[in-house]
Amino acid sequence: MDVRRRQAKMPQSVKIGAGDSPMKPNNPKPSDALPLPLSLTNGLFFTMFFSVMYFLLTRWREKIRNSTPLHVVTLSELAASVSLLASIIYLIGFFGIDFVQSVIYRSNEDAWDVEEEENEKFIIEEDSRMGASPATTLGCAVPVIPLIPQQPTKVPVTEKPAPIITPQSSEEDEQIVNSVVEGKVPSYSLESKLGDCKRAASIRREALQRITGKSLEGLPLEGFDYESILGQCCEMPVGYVQIPVGIAGPLLLNGTEFMVPMATTEGCLVASTNRGCKAIYASGGATGTLLKDGMTRAPVVRFETAKRAAELKLYLENPVNYETISVVFNKSSRFAKLQGIHCAIAGKNLYIRFNSSTGDAMGMNMVSKGVQNVLDFLGNDFPDMDVIGISGNFCSDKKPAAVNWIEGRGKSVVCEAIIKEEIVKKVLKTNVAALVELNMLKNLTGSAIAGALGGFNAHASNIVSAVYIATGQDPAQNIESSHCITMMEAVNDGKDLHISVTMPSIEVGTVGGGTQLSSQSACLNLLGVKGASKESAGANARLLATIVAGSVLAGELSLMSAIAAGQLVKSHMKYNRSSKDVTKISS
Ligand code: ADP
Repeated sequence: MDVRRRQAKMPQSVKIGAGDSPMKPNNPKPSDALPLPLSLTNGLFFTMFFSVMYFLLTRWREKIRNSTPLHVVTLSELAASVSLLASIIYLIGFFGIDFVQSVIYRSNEDAWDVEEEENEKFIIEEDSRMGASPATTLGCAVPVIPLIPQQPTKVPVTEKPAPIITPQSSEEDEQIVNSVVEGKVPSYSLESKLGDCKRAASIRREALQRITGKSLEGLPLEGFDYESILGQCCEMPVGYVQIPVGIAGPLLLNGTEFMVPMATTEGCLVASTNRGCKAIYASGGATGTLLKDGMTRAPVVRFETAKRAAELKLYLENPVNYETISVVFNKSSRFAKLQGIHCAIAGKNLYIRFNSSTGDAMGMNMVSKGVQNVLDFLGNDFPDMDVIGISGNFCSDKKPAAVNWIEGRGKSVVCEAIIKEEIVKKVLKTNVAALVELNMLKNLTGSAIAGALGGFNAHASNIVSAVYIATGQDPAQNIESSHCITMMEAVNDGKDLHISVTMPSIEVGTVGGGTQLSSQSACLNLLGVKGASKESAGANARLLATIVAGSVLAGELSLMSAIAAGQLVKSHMKYNRSSKDVTKISS
């Protein structure tokens, strides 16, 4: 602060010259003529100066935001400008021009600091309401468009959000983030370059935020083992999604009790399955039987003529050749055991559906390796065979297909229970006749009318998906894994209910894929099927498939009862709708 021109206060003890009044300083000042004391006058002008300055700057900012020309001035602004001028003249007169300039500069600077802070807050608030920006350059060859600093005077803040920047833990990390943003370092290479998966995820996440201008707040980064997914479960991680896990049970199945973990965000689902478990338990339990165990893969090969394609079909179906092909196939793994080959011809093209047991693995990788072995082998006797694709969709993976519904894929299981009359009444709040009628008209006739493919059930996929996510299965395989026909019949002179679910394509494993991740592994452990079975290869995966079918049985029983009793809407309103006003949750 420049105070050179401020008048020094004269101490009372100052020497006074002859003829001077003892109470007055030597040099009289112009301010002596003021009607108010000096300090009060200064305070008054300072207050006027700052308040008018603040008022004018606020108006200025509003005009910029509203795109109002700055030269359009209201009466109040005119009056404020005059007051500002008056206070400036006074302050210059008293303190000098340098001091006033510095005060104006600083107050201006402070005001715009506030402005920018407010802008940023506003932008962040806006950001949470806006949809996702287009795909960015992470890991792609598309050049990165450098971020342009925010220009509040030209661009409406709602259209171009400011980048969200989290300070990096080190200068080096900051540089890597910038390199990813600029496209100099591919995002996918961070793990191999840094040798630290957590650090790679953190840097990728920050670069993503800066590129998109979107906050990832709410998507957790901490608390996850990023090394465990490397090269196996997920590429280019930036965090992980949390899904609550509920427990239904005990499910009494083949004399053993299971507590079934279900990862879901659908209210009512766990509660309903739990009720089904209760009804099954109170009726003496359910019985599950495994009918088949074989994962499939079907390559498509092409010949010059349909005749040649037919020759290969006949060769593969000849029992004499089957032994040799089995040996070649089974070399893929000590757990692979070829179960059968099913061929289908379309003109010159042959689809060969290999079916193999795969131990405790779901088995897609294992079977694919076996198929490759056989194709290489067949090339010797059929050199004119052109392998079009290792998968020709006759497999059929992750698509609704009649071949899975009829032939089965993975584990085929049937599960049943007899629910006693009083349990139907007390626990399920309905009666046997109503359930049998509903099942016939909904799950059988209704699904037939709809042209269903494996969908002769109420909601098998709900239970399958929730158990799959909790136990690290491939959730996309819920498509064929949820194929299910639910049957209901009155038994014991029409008093009790016989219910069954038949599921031909349950594709599960307890080793490989997502099953080895810590949370999923804990859920498998809860069921007693974690990892490879020590007693017999494949026993854990087969038991898991039976538990899935048993859980579906419980889910079918409970939902069908709710519908028969007319409770469905009521219970969903209770468990699916919290009292939160969803309209207030910004998207
Ligand atoms: P998938 O074939 O389901 O994709 P992976 O290939 O990821 O599964 O996992 C299977 C791997 O686990 C194979 O390398 C296999 O040798 C090994 N493995 C260890 N124990 C078992 C087991 N009991 N059953 C099946 N595979 C097992």
